[in-house]
Amino acid sequence: MMWVTDFADGNKDQKDLLGGKGANLAEMTNLGLPVPPGFTISTEACRAYLRQGGDPEGLEDQVTERLAALEAAMGRRLGDPTDPLLVSVRSGAKFSMPGMMETVLNVGLNDRSVEGLADLTGDRRFAYDSYRRLLQMFGSTVLGVHSDHFSDALDALKKARRTEDDLALAAEDLEELVETFQGIIREQAEVEFPQEPRRQLDLAVHAVFNSWNTDRAVLYRRQERIPEDLGTAVNVQAMVFGNGGMTSGSGVAFTRDPASGDQGVYGDYLQNAQGEDVVAGIRNTVSLADFAEIDQKSHNELIAHMEKLEKHYRDMCDIEFTVEHGKLWMLQTRVGKRTPEAAFRIAAHMADEGLIDWDEAVQRVTGDQLASLMFPRFDATAERTLLATGMNASPGAAVGRAVFDWRTAVEWADRGEDVILVRKETSPEDLHGMMVAKGILTSRGGKTSHAAVVARGMGRTCVCGAEALDVDTKTGQFTVRDSKTIREGDLISIDGSTGEIFDGAVPVSPSAVVRHFEGEDVEGELVDAVARIMAHADTLRRMQVRTNADTGEDAERARRFGAQGIGLCRTEHMFLGDRRQLVEDLIVAESAEEQQEALAALLPRQKGDFEKILESMDGLPVTIRLIDPPLHEFLPDITELSVALAIADTRGHRKRHERKLLAAVQRLHEQNPMLGLRGVRLGIVIPGLFEMQARAILEAAAARTRAGGSARPEIMVPLVGSVRELDLIRHRIEQVAREVSDELGVEIDYKVGTMIELPRAALTADEIAPSAQFFSFGTNDLTQMTWGFSRDDVEASFFSTYIEHGVFGISPFESLDVEGVGQLVRTAAEKGRAANPALHLGVCGEHGGDPHSIHFFDEVGLDYVSCSPYRVPVARLEAARASLAND
Ligand code: ADP
Ligand code: MG
Ligand code: MG
Repeated sequence: MMWVTDFADGNKDQKDLLGGKGANLAEMTNLGLPVPPGFTISTEACRAYLRQGGDPEGLEDQVTERLAALEAAMGRRLGDPTDPLLVSVRSGAKFSMPGMMETVLNVGLNDRSVEGLADLTGDRRFAYDSYRRLLQMFGSTVLGVHSDHFSDALDALKKARRTEDDLALAAEDLEELVETFQGIIREQAEVEFPQEPRRQLDLAVHAVFNSWNTDRAVLYRRQERIPEDLGTAVNVQAMVFGNGGMTSGSGVAFTRDPASGDQGVYGDYLQNAQGEDVVAGIRNTVSLADFAEIDQKSHNELIAHMEKLEKHYRDMCDIEFTVEHGKLWMLQTRVGKRTPEAAFRIAAHMADEGLIDWDEAVQRVTGDQLASLMFPRFDATAERTLLATGMNASPGAAVGRAVFDWRTAVEWADRGEDVILVRKETSPEDLHGMMVAKGILTSRGGKTSHAAVVARGMGRTCVCGAEALDVDTKTGQFTVRDSKTIREGDLISIDGSTGEIFDGAVPVSPSAVVRHFEGEDVEGELVDAVARIMAHADTLRRMQVRTNADTGEDAERARRFGAQGIGLCRTEHMFLGDRRQLVEDLIVAESAEEQQEALAALLPRQKGDFEKILESMDGLPVTIRLIDPPLHEFLPDITELSVALAIADTRGHRKRHERKLLAAVQRLHEQNPMLGLRGVRLGIVIPGLFEMQARAILEAAAARTRAGGSARPEIMVPLVGSVRELDLIRHRIEQVAREVSDELGVEIDYKVGTMIELPRAALTADEIAPSAQFFSFGTNDLTQMTWGFSRDDVEASFFSTYIEHGVFGISPFESLDVEGVGQLVRTAAEKGRAANPALHLGVCGEHGGDPHSIHFFDEVGLDYVSCSPYRVPVARLEAARASLAND
């Protein structure tokens, strides 16, 4: 087994084996860039180590061998007392991940070799600075000492020397610090700092292996769907030194601006600094332009290397470098992370530059990035005061008055105030308050906390884990780092896309991208990039994109956003408001005639609803679902009604209608309404209800045709479990269609199909398919019915606990549970198509707008996805990306 690979022998496509960092170090080495030599211990070795609980056979010898080669190349021996070779030990998995062990620099230094280094360089300060850094990094990352112990000791020393600048510490100070640090390790870890260089190396390597299984890393992998068994590689690399005086330093750079996407390099440099100093904010960094003033030669070399890397990777690269006494060294590169805006702009620029083609440009952006560009934003030009930054848990820009408990939230929202609910953390009892709030802010908990999971499920803006806030819900206030206090009723603004929390009401401006989709003429490079990438995406995708819309207004917006029809038009809201009375009449009707009367009164109103929707989607298919929810949802609350009647009784009032109503409410009361009398069951039990709806749809369609329009209604029967149910309803609809056609003398182009939202329907799809012209997967109900939990009851109560315990990585209502629910979708699609090759297949659950789910729907061959109007552009883009990926 080969466990170890020299940088010179790898390449960028070996990320599986060498990890991202190792593969890219190898690539840069082979491109001829100045990379300090070294070797990579593979992810395979890590996997074997974790499996066996120790080094796999041969690893130790191979490390010895590679180390000897490195020593020979450098002409130095690891930790040699007079002329030491020092190395860094760097973790690097296939995907960059939080929670992995941080880099340890200067491995090989000990009480003797530090003297050797001092003599050799003639720089005692440098030697001891390097040694104290090793003790600090090794102590915290390998030996598990809390890093505060070291930074506190360093701060104390600076204070004693009356300075805030680490450069003002002299060699003797650092010597003293080395002793302090060794004491800290002795005390906290109860071991002596290992003096033996090879032992330092081995311990560091093992610590990297073990860091694969830290809690943070495990949680992150689950959320990001990174497999558990990849393991991490370890890079061992000869040290170069940026901390040997002002002709040395360290920096980071990007080949384009990762925030805006602007062309032109962008970076920070810090003189006389090592490792993470440049990003740690210990001193002020300078720009690349200033770096050119400091060291023209290294700067020009760096620019040339960056150009080379960007051309080679054909993408924006992010780079880490070090200058050692005027000599530039490249220490890392990778394809750089970027903001959503930069992603679109860079992709379009690179396609214009001919670096990539437009197919690739489509692959370089994601639906999630597009979605985040579609949220309203805080006006960047407005004056604003940042209070603190937490985690960006659920996107959006929310402004409101701070409230600290759910009751106040509900009370204030009821009187028309916008509120932000602020808590240490939320729990199921806060749910009502979360629903009425514009935004949710917590001081504890991460992206899988209760607040974050529930807010995302509701599409509510949320910033969580803002640890700088000291929230006191008793007095109703929070304090930011002991200075600024925000009290109940004060206005605050939170940005769920960045995690920022602002004092006061920051003005919100609508998204330029949305204005563009709405058809406004918006200028600007971002909108231009989005428009061109979307136009190309539309030429690539196999699946169509429809929308879920219940009103003409939603339908029109969705059409402007590119929807190719309606995949789900719900009819239940059409029975609310002043029509409630008619529904009550229908339910309490005591004879067939009374029932008919109530239905006849509903018919013209329903017809009017459908005409509007069919008109706004003229020429496109419109799937209308017959009424689905249990009837009691249209009736008054049982307790309220009982109380009203009890009062009426004491006064001797008769209240005939109310009494009948109460009887109906009692009769219709169900233990588990989700599993009760709803969907197709209603249509079968209440004669005339579905016929009335079908007639309204078909008459509306006929009216549209007569008016010169083109109506394409698709009548969808919900909650079918057996083909017999569908057949019963379908025959009645066909009967109605013949009647309407005869009465009005118009041919109507319509379809009848069913939702697949019960496991039984999916499993018997071959029986159902011959009776249906289309299937539409109702993945919300299908998820509920497959898992056996109701979303409203469980999401807020225990999903965050489930995510924490790894039952799922993300709520199955946010992203389709491909392994479970997905199997039912796949089975139903296959069986349905086999039994009826003309069957049209779509999905109308909210998963139709979720990127990961869309890729799955494309893979199983659905014809379209349907989602809410604002998700339509996201679905268009992801359907195109799915087509490219599944090709
Ligand atoms: P991360 O994964 O957090 O980016 P790195 O492994 O890149 O961690 O290490 C962090 C920093 O340590 C690098 O940016 C670089 O400045 C410094 N570093 C790592 N290896 C060496 C080395 N061989 N010589 C000098 N500096 C190094
Ligand atoms: Mg790095
Ligand atoms: Mg349903």
